This record gives sequence, structure tokens and C-alpha cells, in this order.
Amino acid sequence: MDKQGPRHVKSFREALALSSRRLGFSVTQGCPLKCGHCSVGASPELHANRYGRSFGQEVVRQMPAIADTGIWSIDFTGGEPTLLMGFVGDVSAAAAEFDISCGIVTAAHWARTREQARRTLRCLRNIDHWDISTDVYHTDFVRLDAVERAYEMLKDEGKSVIIRIAYHEPMTRDDAVLIDAVMAFAGRDVSFQPIGPVGRGSDITQSSIADAESYDRGPCPTTGPLIQWDGRVAPCCAPASHEMHDHALWLGSAHCSPIADIVRRWRIDPLLQTIRVWGFEIVRNWFAEAGVEGAHILRSRTCDTCVEMLRDPTLLAIAVERAGTLSHRVRLAYALLEEFDEPWLDELLRREAAEYLRVGAWPARHFEAA
Ligand code: SF4
Ligand code: SF4
Repeated sequence: MDKQGPRHVKSFREALALSSRRLGFSVTQGCPLKCGHCSVGASPELHANRYGRSFGQEVVRQMPAIADTGIWSIDFTGGEPTLLMGFVGDVSAAAAEFDISCGIVTAAHWARTREQARRTLRCLRNIDHWDISTDVYHTDFVRLDAVERAYEMLKDEGKSVIIRIAYHEPMTRDDAVLIDAVMAFAGRDVSFQPIGPVGRGSDITQSSIADAESYDRGPCPTTGPLIQWDGRVAPCCAPASHEMHDHALWLGSAHCSPIADIVRRWRIDPLLQTIRVWGFEIVRNWFAEAGVEGAHILRSRTCDTCVEMLRDPTLLAIAVERAGTLSHRVRLAYALLEEFDEPWLDELLRREAAEYLRVGAWPARHFEAA
């Protein structure tokens, strides 16, 4: 696959493949807004939940090693990532030196005036891709004219801009009115996402229970590892990243391991890569073979099924154990090569095999990249 960013992909498969080249920073849980549907529960009261002062310099110092892993794009999210302008500015400048493109998700509260918007754009000149969020909850705090101002000014600067709109399922009349108003100035530069049952969104909507016929068989749509404000690394920016209890898909802490190692760990994690390639069908078969009823976790969205599995220790233990077996990892390594042209698990298995031949015993630890 040629080097590309999330805005260049032409298919879901290409987007899935690209996730192994992406890295995300969720810089704070603070936000000047307090939207009723916020999936991370961000708010002004949580401003203290953010990266420490020295973390930006630490990431900048590690940027050559991060680039060396083949990361092509870095995303900043939160909370409101522009609250840590220094962090985002420094890290995106360091990324630009390695030809790594950067994107940000922001609610554009900084565009209430042209002058304020100009200052933000100046500080964040190395951000190439801007996702501006708005919906019927955001507009209680940031009016649509500020969103339009941000959109126009970013376009004038030659940036790629998408207005990201969250909507209810089923869509309400207010959602539709707002979408019309946004499309009047942004045309096709819009993307949509349903409000999910995560964070404060769980007060608004429930995940939709499915059965063996109707559950979502689609693969895990992760966008790559996400470093949370406290250093813990989630497998994605989707619902699993909001499950704050210790679960098997956490990838450790960026305060304890080099970020490049965490990227490598993400690429060979057997359970995560299994659902990224095959979705949950194979995992369901493991439950059945273990004689355990797993139907209660099935949902009409893959990410919701994933969260239910993470909340069930018995099922999760079965999935982790089966995904980690040698025979499954061999099959998975082949699939990753075929599907996404990813050699990392294959290379690890070859190293493990060489070690086996050398010492006559299979390495005890399956999951670590070299
Ligand atoms: S702007 Fe985004 S991060 Fe902030 S409260 Fe609203 S949904 Fe949450
Ligand atoms: S399936 Fe799970 S790991 Fe994958 S993106 Fe969804 S929540 Fe994240």
C-alpha cells in the first residue's frame, strides 16, 4: 500500500489496512462544551485530566522511532484537543519533519471570532486534516456561524476539512434541519456518525441487542492505538477506549513503554487482530466450542458486541486464550499478510520458530514484538 492518510482511502478495506499506520492522542478529558451525548463524558470540570507538561517533549523526542515503525498519520482528539495547543503544535511540527500527516477533531469553539480563529490556525499550521464536530448538542455551546467560519478559514488555508455530525437513530427533525444547514455551506464535506450508548450517550440511546442471525458480522473498525490523557493506550478511539476497567485490549501505558513498542504490540495483538480481520464470527465459534453461551453479547454494531465481550470475564478469557494459541496465530499471520500486506506477526512467528529450533522449547511469551 502506498503511503496515504485517512482522507485518501477509497474503501472500508483500505481504511482497515491504514489503521496499522495510524496513531492517536486523546490529549484531555477537558472541554469548554458539555454536550449531552458526549461519548467520553468530557466537560469543563475535567480540565485537569490532561497530558502532563513534559509529555509533549517526550513524544517529540520519540518521533524518529515512531516514524521508523512506519506510522503515516497522527490524530489528535479529546475532549477538546486545542486546549493543549502547545502539545498539539509541538507534536504535529515534529511529525511534519518525518512526513507524517496530522489530523484533529475539534468543536471549533475557537472560531467565535476571526481573530481567535486566526491565532489557532497559526499555532496549528502543521495540522493537515480538520474534523469539525457539530450537531444538535454542540450548537447549545458553539453556534453554527462559528463552525462555518472555521470551515471557510480552513479551506482558505488549503486544509482538508470535514464537518462531522452526530445524529440520533432514528434521525430526528432537528438533526435533519441541522444537516441541511451544514450542507448549505460545506456541501459534501460532511460525515455522519450515530450517537452511541457510550459516556453520556448512554443516557440517550441503548445498544441494540441482536441475535445469531442479525448481529453485525463486520470487522473491528479500529483506527489504531489511542494514547489516553493518563498515558494508558486503548486499541481504538471507539467504545472499547471508554471502557475504563482493566481489559485485555488495553495495550499498556505510554509512560512505561516507548510508543514505538506500543505500536508494534497493537500490530500483533492476537485478539484485536482477529476481530480486525474476521469480526466476531470466529470468536462466537470459540465460545460454542468451550460450551459457553455467548449470544447475550451480540449487538447490531460490532463495537457494541466488542464492549459486551470486554465486560464478560468468562467470555473474554476464552477469546484471549484461543486467540493466543500457536495454530490460530499462524492462521492470523497468514490472513494479515493476505488482507493487509502486514508482515509483523509473520515475522514474529518466524523469530519464535528460530528460537524454538535453537533451544528446543517454544518461547513462553507469545505477545511481545521484538
Ligand atoms: S465537544 Fe466533543 S468532547 Fe466536548 S463535550 Fe461535546 S462531544 Fe464531548
Ligand atoms: S471492535 Fe472493539 S477494538 Fe475494534 S474499534 Fe470497535 S470497540 Fe474498538
